[in-house]
Amino acid sequence: MTKSRLEQIQSNLENVTLRIELACTKVNRKLSEITLIAVTKTYPASEVEILASLGIKNVGENKDQEAFLKFEQVKAPLKWHFVGQLQSNKVKSVVNYANLIHSVDRLTLVKEIQKQAQKINKIQPLLIQIDLDESPADENRGGVSKENLVNLANQIAQFPNLDLQGLMSVAPLGLDPEIAFDRLRDIQRHFLTQFPNAQILSAGMSEDFEVAIAYGATHLRIGSGLLGERPQIG
Ligand SMILES: *Cc1c(COP(=O)(O)O)cnc(C)c1O
Repeated sequence: MTKSRLEQIQSNLENVTLRIELACTKVNRKLSEITLIAVTKTYPASEVEILASLGIKNVGENKDQEAFLKFEQVKAPLKWHFVGQLQSNKVKSVVNYANLIHSVDRLTLVKEIQKQAQKINKIQPLLIQIDLDESPADENRGGVSKENLVNLANQIAQFPNLDLQGLMSVAPLGLDPEIAFDRLRDIQRHFLTQFPNAQILSAGMSEDFEVAIAYGATHLRIGSGLLGERPQIG
């Protein structure tokens, strides 16, 4: 007998939740320190509604066009996270619905977010994305180097409509997530000495969230683990 989509997603969510609990127990962390963000890119608004009916409170998207349409369609009250690389010309739209922008990595983007947030009289919460790839052949999936982090954070702090809440990163392809997230934790420790209120650490996806929890992640971004493998696009 084939399971309904609701049953499938419910069982995936139970599985992921159990794994989060186990990973927390293992390293003596509280479940309440962890926010689960369901990354719903490529999946329709109806599946976002299913997730909401199962108790999900946070969803993540990586493209403005798709995110905006879903945000308009979905009735359930949710927090919307923008986790993808962000182009300056999309900022005006993204600022309208994003509760947290995870992918801030350059001054031009910072200035545009300030400008658009001010226009709608909003204080925009955001994270700085860290590039953990130290290899020279970095194909660049976004993020600042650890050398440029404090400089960018200081710039953000100058703008009245921006609220820097922490850091985000993606473990580079081909790098052991233990090494990647250990690197991230070191960067975060140093960063927190200067920005003690920016406590969020957005790290960990379906394949590596247990490791991320061990290295201090507060926000997990999980897509395929909840909704299944995405169809290949492009
Ligand atoms: C797609 C995506 C995720 C979720 O990835 P899964 O492997 O499906 O869990 C997390 N973070 C970002 C930035 C993404 O683009």
